[in-house]
Amino acid sequence: MTEPAERVYPAAFIRDDRLDMFERRHPWVFSGAIRGVRGNPADGDLIELQTRDGAFLARGYWNGHSQIRVHVLTWDALEPLDDSFWRARLERAVAARAGLAQGERPAVRLVHAESDGLPGLIVDRYADWLVVQALTAGIEARKARLAEMLAEIVPGVRGIYERSDVDIRGKEGLPAAVGMLAGEEPPPHIEIDEDGRRFLVDVRHGHKTGFYIDQRANRSRLAGWLRLTPGAEMLNAFSFSGGFAVAALQGGAARAINVDSSAEALALARRNVELNGFAAQDEDFVAADVFHLLRQYREAGRRFDSIVLDPPKFAHSQQQVQSATRGYKDINLLAFQLLRPGGLLFTFSCSGLVSADLFQKVVFGALADTGRDAQILERLGAGPDHPVALTFPEGEYLKGLVCRVW
Ligand code: SAH
Repeated sequence: MTEPAERVYPAAFIRDDRLDMFERRHPWVFSGAIRGVRGNPADGDLIELQTRDGAFLARGYWNGHSQIRVHVLTWDALEPLDDSFWRARLERAVAARAGLAQGERPAVRLVHAESDGLPGLIVDRYADWLVVQALTAGIEARKARLAEMLAEIVPGVRGIYERSDVDIRGKEGLPAAVGMLAGEEPPPHIEIDEDGRRFLVDVRHGHKTGFYIDQRANRSRLAGWLRLTPGAEMLNAFSFSGGFAVAALQGGAARAINVDSSAEALALARRNVELNGFAAQDEDFVAADVFHLLRQYREAGRRFDSIVLDPPKFAHSQQQVQSATRGYKDINLLAFQLLRPGGLLFTFSCSGLVSADLFQKVVFGALADTGRDAQILERLGAGPDHPVALTFPEGEYLKGLVCRVW
């Protein structure tokens, strides 16, 4: 889809009592804020937001099937939403990552949706390939054109693969979409460099776009902490492809035990451990339910020097927050019980609906039930290639605590 420079947009008229949202510049306009529409916009079409009197408020794209009727792209009346708009936003996002990923085969998030002024678009780079997620109808309608632009903007890109197989597409009335958007097919495993670690990424079958790029700096922090206590025995719960285990071994851990419910994830974790020059023992890759296995370890009297808890998102909606906090409390309580005195807990939550404050309270509640003492040594979040726009606090989802338990 090529966007012409000159055009008359359909209009959505905003209710008088909702105009304050335009001072906050939040990029989501919900159905309840709109009192009427002029024209007949299709899902994904560009639209102008106006006051009752027709004064300009913003422009964005429309979706009549989503509770978020309009995703705002610009608050500037002089900024038309033509091809040059999209190109400029992509260029800005890509330029902002210059120097963030070192190595010949970088893994870096190039576009982080709303927080990069491109609602609904995720672009991750793995060496010479890009992986795109189109989360909204507006991006879906333009993804081929955006892929063309990305191929021009990002140097050295050999191919662009799409992984739009995420639940939130359903809320936009969109089916899953997976496959090539441009260029060459990626190999089954793309090798990437991450702060001196090497990983194989399966962009077709791996979670999200294939790898948890957002944890890069936290893996390096973990390696740094473990260097202070060489020879540690580390438990990597919810290991996926072994990212934290490789970091722990590089940081001098004697052993890193990976636990995941997915046998495929563990097979890749094993390859990643070996790729970094460490010997892989069968017993260090355990296919099990973490909730169950930690209980078994506790009953058996097993203890560890450090534990990583990096579970999947537990809260997908406000209604799930309470059960999510129960889940977080359960695993954190077990982890505190399994740590030797002086041991380190690296505990994460990637549920955006669970705030950093609430998460800390839950971890405290877990500790209180064990009767032990613990300190927070460090607070962690997603890396700088996952920025959070100040107008979009929802963009902040990953939070972590490094705790020492006595
Ligand atoms: N720490 C990883 C990312 C973890 S993603 C990294 O740095 O790359 C969460 C992982 O938890 C997924 O691999 C998923 O397969 C696994 N998982 C989800 N529920 C689980 C459960 N109850 N027990 C064990 N693993 C689980």
